[in-house]
Amino acid sequence: MSEPATTQLRRVDLHTHSCCSDGALAPSELVSLAATRGVSTLALTDHDTLEGLPEAQLACEQHGIRFVPGVELSCRWQEVETHVLGLGIDATHGALRSLCSQQRQRRQARIEAIGARLSALGLPGQVLVDGALGAAAPTRAHLAEGLKRHGFAASAQEAFDRYLARGRPGFVAAAWPSLATIIEHVLGAGGMAVLAHPHRYGLSGTRLSELTHEFKRLEGAGIEVSVAGMSPAKTSEAARLARRFDLAGSMGSDFHQPGIPWRPLGRLVKLPEAVIPITARLA
Ligand code: AMP
Ligand code: MN
Ligand code: MN
Ligand code: MN
Repeated sequence: MSEPATTQLRRVDLHTHSCCSDGALAPSELVSLAATRGVSTLALTDHDTLEGLPEAQLACEQHGIRFVPGVELSCRWQEVETHVLGLGIDATHGALRSLCSQQRQRRQARIEAIGARLSALGLPGQVLVDGALGAAAPTRAHLAEGLKRHGFAASAQEAFDRYLARGRPGFVAAAWPSLATIIEHVLGAGGMAVLAHPHRYGLSGTRLSELTHEFKRLEGAGIEVSVAGMSPAKTSEAARLARRFDLAGSMGSDFHQPGIPWRPLGRLVKLPEAVIPITARLA
């Protein structure tokens, strides 16, 4: 007998990170954990890198999990930093691979610029930079971990709040490519573009509609509607945008590490009625 829709939806997780970007687990460990949570369809969507995909794919085959190769690409829309998920991409696609290596160079330059700022504040900037550059996709989260490890912050969150968040003394904006360029690369690699966590851009309702409209015009396929930690009001807003702009609804935990209760791998609320799940459009 088939399971009720709610249960099935809870077992799809299309937004997760491994240690190839700022997650704590190796791709195969992430997949093992997903298996213990009963996840049946899993995407690995590391920030700006495809490095973890072969290992995750193999592990998914071993666990009988349907694997969706993915990536989370940083870009800009009208000077707002936005994140786009590429789902179902061909990870061997040349243009996408070269985009990811450019993203790595942008990340590296940014981390070094942040390191210089931290040094100017009397912190061991170079040590923190060296610690961050080991990952395929170095992120501010690696610097935050380093600041915590070296005793300059009680937690990674505090490191963001004190030094790394926008408006704080260590903040440096990155020179991300445009939303149009990023979507073009996802489509070129045979993937579907999904607007990630729409509630996290700090946009008014009007501006978020503008962004979503533009995203659709550029041939985006979906918008995250069921995101771990998203309030019911924001979920409804995302669902309205999905319907208004004829976008499919995506669902993901944005899992980075175990032990964060508000981002549990594979435990999502079901999509609101009348939103077409993006899984229906996955090949
Ligand atoms: P980056 O892509 O280098 O800007 O790194 C950002 C990563 O750090 C994000 O993907 C989050 O996982 C994490 N992050 C960003 N902002 C915060 C924040 N204010 N507090 C905690 N973690 C954050
Ligand atoms: Mn992250
Ligand atoms: Mn993101
Ligand atoms: Mn993410």
